Amino acid sequence: MEPTKPSKVHLPDSAGLIRAASVIREGGTVAVPTETVYGLAARADDDAAVAGIYRAKGRPDFNPLIVHVPDVTAAECLAEFDDRARALAAAFWPGPLTMVLPLREGAGLAAAVSAGLPTVALRCPAHPVMQALLKTCGFPLAAPSANRSGGVSPTSASHVAASLGERVDLILDGGETRQGIESTIVGLRSDYTWSVLRPGPITEADIATVLGGHSAAMTSARIEAPGQLASHYAPGKPVRLDATEGREGEFLIGFGAICGNVTLSAKGDLAEAAARLYACLHVAAAAPHPRIAVAPIADHGIGVAINDRLRRAAA
Ligand code: AMP
Ligand code: MG
Repeated sequence: MEPTKPSKVHLPDSAGLIRAASVIREGGTVAVPTETVYGLAARADDDAAVAGIYRAKGRPDFNPLIVHVPDVTAAECLAEFDDRARALAAAFWPGPLTMVLPLREGAGLAAAVSAGLPTVALRCPAHPVMQALLKTCGFPLAAPSANRSGGVSPTSASHVAASLGERVDLILDGGETRQGIESTIVGLRSDYTWSVLRPGPITEADIATVLGGHSAAMTSARIEAPGQLASHYAPGKPVRLDATEGREGEFLIGFGAICGNVTLSAKGDLAEAAARLYACLHVAAAAPHPRIAVAPIADHGIGVAINDRLRRAAA
């Protein structure tokens, strides 16, 4: 009989963290929980390690990665911070906000992290496991969502194992992620305009409270946010949105008064719906039904981010 392979899933206790940091130090990939979704982390200062992320995900190389740092001081070593960036960091870090800023000369990041752009996307995550991993490693970590490119994002260690399996070196199991939807990405430009490049848990209104004004139209969307592909988060079946009832052959994801086979939130709570969105899409993808339908979601607050993901899942 074959000896059973040691599991690559570890608890994020001190032994697990030391193990994970050593895998990363040697250029490997580690799936790690954050407050948004599970990330696939590798050292951001090493070309081969970053190439490992693209390879594991099957991610197109024009789609840059978010670099994670433990604090603002580490962030300022990598990008040019102005008053706006400092104000946003003070208001929302650690937390689910990613800032796209001018790359600092001599930052020492692997070129592929920025996919050739003169900018870098930075985030300081709040999750204790990701924070502990960053501190144990002592260098910035590039980490996109820990799923095959274009697929549904993972909100649990089992989602990661199902999607990446043999393609990831180690998985830290920190349970289900709390917010369940990827960070808000905001681009700060040198002409003092700003744009939400990807809606998320921190709303445009939250950002406007700090920066004033409003999200400017993207003048060069293709160059600024190359990863905002029309089709993403795809569950592998047709998806119908704004469904008030399930039709023949459809697995219905409900919300509020619309019950469905599962519900994002029976009480119509948008934060709960965001936290459960990807888990419901994973269940719907695994169901025998050939199609998926989703109840209408209110388009305010984090509902804007939920609808953004649903539109891409349906595209
Ligand atoms: P993911 O890592 O899968 O959550 O996706 C990361 C997102 O961040 C993608 O949509 C990227 O296009 C975006 N991103 C990363 N770096 C940059 C950057 N320098 N400029 C604009 N968008 C970026
Ligand atoms: Mg992703």
